Amino acid sequence: MKKALAGLLLISMVFGLTACGKAKTTSGVKSNGKSVGISMPEKTLQRWINDGNNMVDSLDKLGYKTDLQYADNSVSNQISQIENMITKGVNVLVVASVDGTALTDVLKQAHDAKIPVISYDRLITKTDFVDYYATFDNFKVGVLQAGYIETSLGLKDGKGPFNIELFAGSPDDNNAKFFFDGAMSILQPYITSGKLVVKSGQVGYAQIGILGWDGAKAQSRMDNLLSKNYTTDKVDAVLCPNDAISIGVISSLKGVGYGSATQKMPVTTGQDCEIASVKSIIAGEQTSSIFKDTRVLAAKAAEMADSVLNGKTPTVNNTKTYTTGSKIVPSFLCDPVVVDKTNYQKVVVDSGYITADKLK
Ligand code: BGC
Repeated sequence: MKKALAGLLLISMVFGLTACGKAKTTSGVKSNGKSVGISMPEKTLQRWINDGNNMVDSLDKLGYKTDLQYADNSVSNQISQIENMITKGVNVLVVASVDGTALTDVLKQAHDAKIPVISYDRLITKTDFVDYYATFDNFKVGVLQAGYIETSLGLKDGKGPFNIELFAGSPDDNNAKFFFDGAMSILQPYITSGKLVVKSGQVGYAQIGILGWDGAKAQSRMDNLLSKNYTTDKVDAVLCPNDAISIGVISSLKGVGYGSATQKMPVTTGQDCEIASVKSIIAGEQTSSIFKDTRVLAAKAAEMADSVLNGKTPTVNNTKTYTTGSKIVPSFLCDPVVVDKTNYQKVVVDSGYITADKLK
């Protein structure tokens, strides 16, 4: 008898049922019976894991059920995961794309099933069927990265010339061009005036992108740049668009003796405040990163989903910048912040984003 009761209790807990039979979400909020499909690109960066968890938490508190899937950086996985969500009848889709240009057909299916779509962090393009976009100010990310190089090298004070190499993110990610354009808005005048010299000559967006934001590919490109251009000269700065790329670049630099008593590390940038990169900043290797508070982004995207499903117009702060190619998507841009050795404690640790023990 006792066992049967315990079994019943367990079943009611698993299905989130209260004594009077009303479904509750895991946070105890009464479920509104609606569900949100959340499609995330990959799990190698901690940021996407945080994004997914934060989305589930935020939606749970608003009474939604969630279906969170990670695509393992594979376009076909992502498409079939989204197709499944459509078949299961989710009420809204929130998608951070693997390849923003590859979801045209599946978003048509979502549209036909009357499922609104919110693009998350990365804009989906080549479609009319994106309703809203929640992201960070991606151009500003690039401005902050390059501004860090500008300040660290003293370029504004007329110092130079310095040697710099440039990296960009994955060409299939709409954000990558925004990061690059933001960075070049600061760096280009110094390259033109000769205060910054790109010895490899590789300055075009098409030449410097790293497919899949793959740190190993960045490392091998940096190995090549160093062996071809820096056997006698030294590189003073490397524009790295995110932490995965900076980690690859820094391994390459260390491999040829940078970061020693005789050869200091160049100024390096990054993005995401990944644990490994914040540790590297503390150790004096990576110079800076960009903090993008995924808790804020997730809460914003959840709020958008909630508004859309309740017939309200989501709050946006940009209706000009982001186009799918055929449609300008109303967007909310959250604010990115530069992090280095001087402020990581306050920005990243004291805010509770990374606990101090993870940085030991
Ligand atoms: C995101 C970055 C991330 C990169 C690689 C970009 O779209 O905005 O935060 O580092 O993808 O995952």
